[in-house]
Amino acid sequence: MASKLFYQSRLPRPALDRAEGIYMWDISGKRYIDGSSGAMVSNIGHSNPAVLQAMRDQMEKSTFGYRLHFQTEASEILAEKTAALCPDGMNRVFFVSGGSEAVESTLKLARQYALAKGQAQRFKVISRMPSYHGSTLGALSVTGYAPLSAPFEPMMQHMPKIPAPRAYLDGLDADDPATGLHYADMLEQKILDEGPDTVLAFIVEPVGGASTGALVPPAGYMQRIRDICDTYGILLIHDEVMSGGGRTGRFWGADHWGTAPDLISISKGFGGGYVPLGAMIARDEIVETVLDAGGFAHGHTYAGNPLACAAGTAVIDEIHRAGLIENSATVGKYLESRLNALMNRYPFIGDVRGKGLLLAFELVADRVTMEPLPPGLNAHSRLVDIAYDKGLIIYSRRTRGGLSGDHFLVCPPMITTQGQVDEIMEMLTAALDDFAAEAGLGRSAA
Ligand code: PLP
Repeated sequence: MASKLFYQSRLPRPALDRAEGIYMWDISGKRYIDGSSGAMVSNIGHSNPAVLQAMRDQMEKSTFGYRLHFQTEASEILAEKTAALCPDGMNRVFFVSGGSEAVESTLKLARQYALAKGQAQRFKVISRMPSYHGSTLGALSVTGYAPLSAPFEPMMQHMPKIPAPRAYLDGLDADDPATGLHYADMLEQKILDEGPDTVLAFIVEPVGGASTGALVPPAGYMQRIRDICDTYGILLIHDEVMSGGGRTGRFWGADHWGTAPDLISISKGFGGGYVPLGAMIARDEIVETVLDAGGFAHGHTYAGNPLACAAGTAVIDEIHRAGLIENSATVGKYLESRLNALMNRYPFIGDVRGKGLLLAFELVADRVTMEPLPPGLNAHSRLVDIAYDKGLIIYSRRTRGGLSGDHFLVCPPMITTQGQVDEIMEMLTAALDDFAAEAGLGRSAA
């Protein structure tokens, strides 16, 4: 019988049977390496016994307590642990069930804060092109990815965009602080063009996710955007839905630059694939001001439910107990060096980038001009399918305005060992060989 389920497109995939650690098995018994942690979600691997036990323990007590009827110990504990990981003065945690909800929450809290401060004219949220902040209409309005937003243009508020700092495409040196300033100054210019007193916030992924393929900001960029936001009284939102939770080798992506935002969104690895879970974390003063002014007009039914929170707490505990942030840093370095070495073998790999185990490579027709591969090759889906057939799951996106350009995220769980990286690289190399042969692309013998 045909499935009644549908998602975004027709993509026949086998049924999942079970999963453990970095491995997954379909119902035919075929094994896969989860080389992208799903969509960069299953950060601590599958079937972690401590998380499963914490969930069972919580289920024995209660699985749901509506937030307007009860406080729950599980949500208090997770809020406490989350706040302890945040920059000073960011102690207020608002739970949601996913990344889009977390981003929506930041936009709406920012707006209510402006209203509470008598700044009703502030409503514009500047974001970057490309970027991905979620699929609900508010989060989509700040998303810079035309294939996903174009159908809904008439239904959304137009929000200003600035270019993401893709130094590798613009032929600039990402390690030169002048490059960071060059891109950050585009924010200042946009603020001036829009009218500084109409701008509410700037939202940025500290380490890029699927839209940019693990884009790392150039030197000085994160510090400079903080300064610019302060100069114009604009809130800075770090969307850490993907980069938060330790995958980059620090708990927050922004920890690499030591900068603190006003609002943070987190999801994905926060629930680790065990439960739908996300959160917004806000500066204390923002929350107090909004609550004093009558309250936050926003919330989702499942927010802060004790089962999700108990799982979230167990995920954070496992990350610390097993040293997974440190593992992401060291094993991430090894994986990055192995991906970089592929550039000797495949002239059509144009760039390798990322931090920790949030890594990507980009395929191009010409490494010097960074001209994309012909769209007809459909590299972004062909390479994923070839790797999938071999039992390796990786994640891809067409990069450049959604028209052409293909990047691939290689983001295995944070528990991955060096030996497992070797296993991943063997399969990836075999997949790239097959893709090169099929696409008629040259490769060297290296
Ligand atoms: N923000 C970022 C940076 C993301 O990477 C994503 C998902 O990929 C989202 C928001 C949306 O999260 P969700 O798919 O859980 O709604």
